[in-house]
Amino acid sequence: MATEVGFIGLGIMGQPMALNLIKAGYKLTVYNRTASKAEPLKTAGATVASTPAEAVKNAEFVVSIVSDTNAMEEVVTGKGGALETLRPGAVWIDSSTISPVFSVKLSRLMGEKGAKLLDAPVTGSKHGAEKGELLFMIGGEDDALKKAKPLIDVMGKKFIHLGGNGKGLSCKVSMNAILATQLLIFCEAILLAKKAGVDPQQFLDVMQSSFARSHLVDFKAPFIFKGDFTPFFPLGLMHKDLSLALENAYANNVPMPTTAAVKEVFGAGKAQGKGDLDIGAVITVLEDLTGEKVRVSNPSS
Ligand code: NAP
Repeated sequence: MATEVGFIGLGIMGQPMALNLIKAGYKLTVYNRTASKAEPLKTAGATVASTPAEAVKNAEFVVSIVSDTNAMEEVVTGKGGALETLRPGAVWIDSSTISPVFSVKLSRLMGEKGAKLLDAPVTGSKHGAEKGELLFMIGGEDDALKKAKPLIDVMGKKFIHLGGNGKGLSCKVSMNAILATQLLIFCEAILLAKKAGVDPQQFLDVMQSSFARSHLVDFKAPFIFKGDFTPFFPLGLMHKDLSLALENAYANNVPMPTTAAVKEVFGAGKAQGKGDLDIGAVITVLEDLTGEKVRVSNPSS
């Protein structure tokens, strides 16, 4: 008999991850706060639940990927939340990027029900989710990971087990501090080059031939050049991740002056109403300040 999986959160990342599990033969019961987003999953063969509790009640495994700590709190402990029906023995793979401290608290609550939580945040964005090529950063117990591995292998190309509960998330928020910083310094530098009279495409060509090369910039630059900010990873979610990194920095007594500054620029973008645009839209915050735009009519890469 097919293994029963409860799946919670069908956003940019959750939709393709859930579809890949269905294609691999798992029996999914899905929940999404906005019910209409569950339609493609229903068409693909999933059962649609009207509450998180309903989604997890028969599940041996639960996968969740929701926006933030508050969303996760609501789906687990809120009215109709998953804790009401979570089965003893269930393994919960949470791929949301949320507070590491809160995730440890959730692991204790789930432990009281006889279930185990893995914090399993991901990187690889929408394309990685579609292709089943995400990288998972895992925190939690070995035996839970061993049970969950077949599902993780369907959704990802690699996982790294970083230790006990919360360690996957501690890794993830630190990593996103690097990505946000790479993106923002690229935006600052290319804007300066453009205003000083350098062609942006040539600037990128030089950068891609040097130690300054970044995979993230390779991917984002053509979208920035076109002014296409269709969300792959929304700016508002990166602002949230930078806030989580600083929260973790406070908890661990680590100064992060660069992250603090970068967070404020992403925060400015969100305050300007750009939170649902892609992270590449952070360049427009600087463009508005500078009165200069970095656009290329036919980007070569
Ligand atoms: P998204 O498209 O905005 O989806 C967010 C999901 O969370 C939706 O299903 C949304 O439901 C649900 N949600 C939000 N608030 C909720 C609440 N209070 N109760 C119940 N459900 C709630 O975001 P995403 O890009 O898929 O990202 C999801 C998570 O993955 C985030 O933590 C993000 O940081 C992380 N992540 C994203 C990427 C990426 O490239 N996009 C990459 C790695 C990690 P509705 O449909 O009702 O709004």
